[in-house]
Amino acid sequence: MKTLEDRILKDGDILGENIVKVDSFLTHQVDPELMEEIGQTFAAAFKEAGITKVVTIEASGIAPALYTAQALSVPMIFAKKAKNITMTEGILTAEVYSFTKQVTSTVSIASKFLSSDDKVLIIDDFLANGQAAKGLIQIIEEAGAQVEAIGIVIEKSFQDGRSLLEEARQRVVSLARIDRFENGSIVFKEADL
Ligand code: 5GP
Repeated sequence: MKTLEDRILKDGDILGENIVKVDSFLTHQVDPELMEEIGQTFAAAFKEAGITKVVTIEASGIAPALYTAQALSVPMIFAKKAKNITMTEGILTAEVYSFTKQVTSTVSIASKFLSSDDKVLIIDDFLANGQAAKGLIQIIEEAGAQVEAIGIVIEKSFQDGRSLLEEARQRVVSLARIDRFENGSIVFKEADL
């Protein structure tokens, strides 16, 4: 997605060896116009797939997931990272190691929001080593629902996430794919959309 790549080049910062900071438009302050275009781009790619739910993980996946869900006219569910006393009914959980926070946390979704009739599109802001997506897949499959595909806003293709997910026979569709960092600049490879 050209506008996304241009925005990453304009406003993204490289932190250390393998982190991209995009807090001015995606992970902290959020650009609704860009999110809308992201949502429409994912929705166009999956409009024939019979998607019934969009699933993401809080917090930074919520904005692109919500716009995608709106464009597909289906609900969006975000997995919660902290246990909540209002979650009294059946809860599906998975352990997820966070790449940026370097801690393992339990993520959960109330089982009443997923059923064996659901065809799910997972959306997330970043794909690094695939642990967040793996945890979501585990929860969705535990509910008996089917993961149709995984839509990623920014894939860091030099990390293992995509191959891990593809080995698990998942379809990964990324809007921007970072091939490498070169002399302090971001170099993309061809994106899926
Ligand atoms: P994974 O689970 O694929 O290893 O990492 C994906 C999760 O880690 C995303 O949900 C995102 O929150 C976070 N993440 C991974 N890499 C980056 C990065 O380079 N920048 C930012 N801002 N978040 C990242």
